[in-house]
Amino acid sequence: AKTWILKKHFEGFPKESNFELREEVLPELQDGDVLVEAVYLSVDPYMRSLSKMWIKEGDVQYGTQLAKVVKSKDPAFPEGCYVVANCGWRTHTVTKAKGPAGPILTRIVSEWPSDISVSLALGSLGMPGLTALYGLEEVCKIQPGETILVSAAAGAVGAMVGQICKIKGCKVVGSAGGDDKVAYLKELGFDQAFNYKTVSSLEEALKNASPEGYDCYFENVGGPLFTAALKNMKPGGRIAVCGGIATYNDTTPQMCPYPHHEIITRQLKIEGFMVRSWQHKDEESVKRMLKWMKEGKLKAKEVVTVGFENMPTAFMRMLKGDGLGKAIVQV
Ligand code: NDP
Repeated sequence: AKTWILKKHFEGFPKESNFELREEVLPELQDGDVLVEAVYLSVDPYMRSLSKMWIKEGDVQYGTQLAKVVKSKDPAFPEGCYVVANCGWRTHTVTKAKGPAGPILTRIVSEWPSDISVSLALGSLGMPGLTALYGLEEVCKIQPGETILVSAAAGAVGAMVGQICKIKGCKVVGSAGGDDKVAYLKELGFDQAFNYKTVSSLEEALKNASPEGYDCYFENVGGPLFTAALKNMKPGGRIAVCGGIATYNDTTPQMCPYPHHEIITRQLKIEGFMVRSWQHKDEESVKRMLKWMKEGKLKAKEVVTVGFENMPTAFMRMLKGDGLGKAIVQV
């Protein structure tokens, strides 16, 4: 079995030298154990933003994988079934289904159609898709006819945000860092989209895309776009703070002005959230999203890097915004 270790905590943008590839000898299976083999591994922004909080140097890099059960001493996880496994950057893992902090293995829903790749359980039909759904339904509580802004819109979460907004009868505006990404957003049905890297003024771009302002902002990036969005919110607007990827690699915090008077005079409601707060709804939510996908209302793109040895490269590419879609690694 192979593993990637976090050798040195990140300072600034991650480097190949932060990681080390190691061989691992697996233990014999005990009663209740399962041996899983990674098929696809996910690389996500939280691996950068939460790293110092979640692991020590020398630990296996944490993360989620779509894995196949290859040996089992737990009847709930028979050989051949697919699981989403919180096993970190490992090719093979011997584990129990539950750990002290919650489930380690979750079987993909039994209704998974054969023509939909199981890899989407790490993307549109997994954690990022659920983040989009809960941010819109539970935090923003979007209503038909409202106008929603989303940043990092062509990414795993953002692309789902836009498509769910359309399913729910909203107008949606997205920002992304490339003209190819803007074209993709239009293909997905976004009403307006712009390239935040090339517009001369973020505030003007937001105004042009929706002169009447925004009822909700699904915030993924932080930095200057957040400030510009505040100035374009409608009175009583709601902001779901999902992430701040523009700030994750900062060595000194960005000093962006977050003007209090905009928050006060527009009477904005700003709420941070974590996808895991609605874990009890995950199974039902995945089934709903699968149905939308089968009906052709949801599309998904993936950026697939081949080879477990390329995990750090895929992770760094995702952070830079190279490629269009959910970043995954195929073992
Ligand atoms: P993405 O697939 O969107 O990949 C990251 C994207 O961030 C890149 O493609 C890039 O797109 C964009 N990006 C990188 N640097 C910058 C920058 N300086 N300014 C603006 N955009 C930048 O990732 P996810 O969809 O998985 O995650 C999106 C956000 O959601 C992240 O902030 C993440 O931390 C957060 N998140 C939060 C969760 C929660 O429970 N609260 C759960 C899951 C994700 P581009 O080319 O457009 O710049």
